[in-house]
Amino acid sequence: MDRIKKILIDPGHGGSEYGAIHKEIFEKDINLKTAQKLKLFLEKDENFEVFLTRYEDRELTLKDRVDLINKIMPDMFISIHHNSSYENFENRIEVYYRWEEDGPSYKFAQIVNKFLKKFLKIPSKKPMPAFYTVLRNNSDISVLLEPYYLKFYNEDLPELTAIAIYEAIKEFFKWDYPKIKNFQIKNNFLILDVEGRWDAEKSLAKINNERVLIEKRENKAYIYITKSGNLKVILRNYNGFPSKMLEMKINNIFSSYSIDVFPGFKNMPNLININFYDIFFEKISDGFEVEIKINGFSFNTKTKDGKVSFIFEEKVEFYEIEIKVLNNIFSEIIELKDGFIYWGKLEDVKDGYGLSNDKIYKIFNGYIFSKVPKLKIIARGFQTFEVDLSKEQFYKPLKLYNGIFHDKRIFILYDETENCYEISSRLWFFGANVEILRYENELNAIKKAVEFNSDVLLFFKFSESEIIKFYEMDKYGEKLAQILSKHLNMFWTYSSYQILIQPFGARILFEINYLDEERIRKIILALKEYFESQFNS
Ligand SMILES: [Zn+2]
Repeated sequence: MDRIKKILIDPGHGGSEYGAIHKEIFEKDINLKTAQKLKLFLEKDENFEVFLTRYEDRELTLKDRVDLINKIMPDMFISIHHNSSYENFENRIEVYYRWEEDGPSYKFAQIVNKFLKKFLKIPSKKPMPAFYTVLRNNSDISVLLEPYYLKFYNEDLPELTAIAIYEAIKEFFKWDYPKIKNFQIKNNFLILDVEGRWDAEKSLAKINNERVLIEKRENKAYIYITKSGNLKVILRNYNGFPSKMLEMKINNIFSSYSIDVFPGFKNMPNLININFYDIFFEKISDGFEVEIKINGFSFNTKTKDGKVSFIFEEKVEFYEIEIKVLNNIFSEIIELKDGFIYWGKLEDVKDGYGLSNDKIYKIFNGYIFSKVPKLKIIARGFQTFEVDLSKEQFYKPLKLYNGIFHDKRIFILYDETENCYEISSRLWFFGANVEILRYENELNAIKKAVEFNSDVLLFFKFSESEIIKFYEMDKYGEKLAQILSKHLNMFWTYSSYQILIQPFGARILFEINYLDEERIRKIILALKEYFESQFNS
């Protein structure tokens, strides 16, 4: 355990409030006796600090109790009561937990119920959510116990009950809190090394207060970075216990660029600006090393203020520009909390960098400004672009393909379908990282797809009838299937086909009988829309 846990025990009733009564046995006394026994066990255990709402027979209102809980802020609150009944009732255990679907109170209720059954050897009712006043408090875990009916009381029972509760508390805290040890950013993921067991379903990641997906791979947490902004992550274990919050600013993952050409007058040289953007079309920070080739002449330089500027003296009608980013140096601005390890390069981060208005340069698509009449741009991440501006005015802005496929991982599976190599090479040309595999057997296909770790998996399966399918639990697949169906004018539905279940990212099964030029174009447009929607959502 990483720190001492505070346990607050609440013996029900007290003073003139007797609670249930059976012959000479008063509930208030049994509650206190059991609480005191439990206190002894917890006191001997260095992992716990124990408090009681009352240490003697005295009156305490429900409000007093709740005020005390909110003041002590315990890790766990246990209210102890006992039942009585005038009817000829079978003895049984009753456990109530603060109303919640699947949180820590519910989890602890299950565990304490198990141990009470084991030690008291009587049947139990299923643990039930309840709205008791004392359960409505600030403690993460709140339960109310009615271990047995007073009619069945004997002197051994308070101690047995206390042992059972103590064992349950120990069992519960065995899971402990997950710890984030280290992190790195790769492609569109923030990858966290986690110590301790944790549950992706219960964990939470938000960028600018919008939820983003957390995936668990081995014990690492993969968090989808869908945009730049303030990222907050809390991992929780199976009992809902949180890690410390990881907070950082996400910025500067190189993705695409645009080029401005400012033609010189008469015989003056041309000024060329190449602007570099992250995946969210915000300018990247300084220090990205790039290699520029222009009309066969090449040089290396580093980005400054999110761009590379140079003067090109040659006056030719036809430019061929090729740009390579040699290393992606991340220079995040990270707010460090509670000893998280910094990863990145500090020397590139200037005061207030990325925060001042002049540094946040927002565009949604790349533009090119040119007076050169004929221009061709060849760059990874962009469609080859050829323009003829001879009859147009100066500085006509033209929309450039925005590099949305850059570094996207697309896995293509096919069986009989022809032209799959065509779609694969097209996507590759637009900057995607593509792997193509002929479908031989399911296991091999799944293995390859998982290894490749695709953003999108497309399986082209020859079929007489035509339909687009996604796995029913795959929300990305569903989104992509919708977009594809709109572009291709095909029906879509869900499927439980095995290959769609295993890999990561959006998974699509095309049951089609042909793949032609027209369809390839539409699929690429649909993928583009899909990736854009991911950035915008
Ligand atoms: Zn009671």
